[in-house]
Amino acid sequence: MELTNELQRLFGLTAFRPGQQECIESLLAGHDTLAQLPTGTGKSLCYQLTAYLKDGLVIVVSPLISLMEDQVNRLLELGETRVVCINSNSLPEERNEFIRRLPMIKFLFLSPEMIQNKTIVTHLKRQKIALFVVDEAHCISQWGFDFRPEYRLLGDVKKDLGNPLTLALTATATAKVRADIKQVLLTKYANEYVFSIDRPNISLFVKKSENKMADLADLLAKIDQPAIIYCSTRKKVEELYAQFAKQFRIGYYHGGLNTGERSLLQRQFKENHLQVLIATNAFGMGIDKPDIRYVIHYDLPDSVENYVQEMGRAGRDGQESFAILLYEEGDERIHYYFQEQAKNDWQKRVDKVTNEAKKISQAQHTVEAHQFEKKKKLLDMLDYLEEKKCRRRYLLRYFGETMSEKPEVCCDLHGAQILLGTNRQRKKAKSEESWQKILEKIFKE
Ligand code: ADP
Ligand code: MG
Repeated sequence: MELTNELQRLFGLTAFRPGQQECIESLLAGHDTLAQLPTGTGKSLCYQLTAYLKDGLVIVVSPLISLMEDQVNRLLELGETRVVCINSNSLPEERNEFIRRLPMIKFLFLSPEMIQNKTIVTHLKRQKIALFVVDEAHCISQWGFDFRPEYRLLGDVKKDLGNPLTLALTATATAKVRADIKQVLLTKYANEYVFSIDRPNISLFVKKSENKMADLADLLAKIDQPAIIYCSTRKKVEELYAQFAKQFRIGYYHGGLNTGERSLLQRQFKENHLQVLIATNAFGMGIDKPDIRYVIHYDLPDSVENYVQEMGRAGRDGQESFAILLYEEGDERIHYYFQEQAKNDWQKRVDKVTNEAKKISQAQHTVEAHQFEKKKKLLDMLDYLEEKKCRRRYLLRYFGETMSEKPEVCCDLHGAQILLGTNRQRKKAKSEESWQKILEKIFKE
């Protein structure tokens, strides 16, 4: 069987992106697989294509409802109707209906809480499971930036389900996190496909600022290409929106909007009716816009992992793009507050998902270790601001990589410039000029 033919036949796509084919072949050969491919590569396709080449149900565990909805919609758009999503939003009668239809289902999307539901597990056990997929698998690890206690228990769930073939997907994991994913979720002999996090077409900038608002206004006045501005809180998002909405084609996006509003905004941005979106990091998880030229962080990200994910939404088309981080003294404070809040929140979840004393003390330990880790991650993010030699090298090192080839335009520490509207035109004018010169030459000869 020629996999490329299947890709064409089932998805109308002509070529695999790096990593996809290896990953699918590994699964078809029956190996548990860990794939770390940059955001936007097409990790979903790894399980979608495999699903059609194997008999049985594909279970996909995903940490966010918006991510699940997004994937369900994409499958529906492809004409696949055997798709179901069960999460905390599903009503009990809906759940029962889904369970009844289970034998006819090909793709089942579940939140990590739902997959621990005893009734659901009992029903799943009766099915032939082709593949168990854990999306955003770094959530398993306390060393990861987005640890979810419920994810930690997916190893037990897998056992319960009779150890089905498993695919773990992530965009950003350190070696330590990958080892953890393997230990919890995969067999010893699992295949790993790890691709560089580097995005050579994105140049990196940090601007320490006395007045971020003024600096942002300055940038916005010159930007004439699609841009995202990330903030840490909904409140800040709305504040910036109120400040700039009159002057620019701007929208805002955060988790407080309903599904309809969110998809409308995504569409407006995708079709360039809006040029700039101000958003919390809830925006971008499922976004599929290739020509975002600027990702501006108005607030400090809480970890290098999150930063790399968020700025990686720029320049999917491979064209020159810019990641700009604005920093004003004390910006890290909000994260200390979030960390405290998260601690209480995890505590509640741990209490909910475990009831045996031993498990609680283990989970407790894990939560504390993760707290410590979060603090360290923030410090690593702050170090990025202080880097003196090369920001790209700093990011690569963080993920245990070395820089094999330095892009011509790299970072502010290597003299890179943020090209804005007028700058860009100047660049274009220059190249037109040189064309005129070339023509002159031709005519003279
Ligand atoms: P990820 O999960 O890695 O961030 P997604 O699975 O959401 O990425 O896919 C991002 C986009 O890439 C989707 O629109 C998908 O259809 C597209 N895509 C995936 N594989 C290919 C391919 N081989 N060729 C062209 N487009 C692809
Ligand atoms: Mg994905």
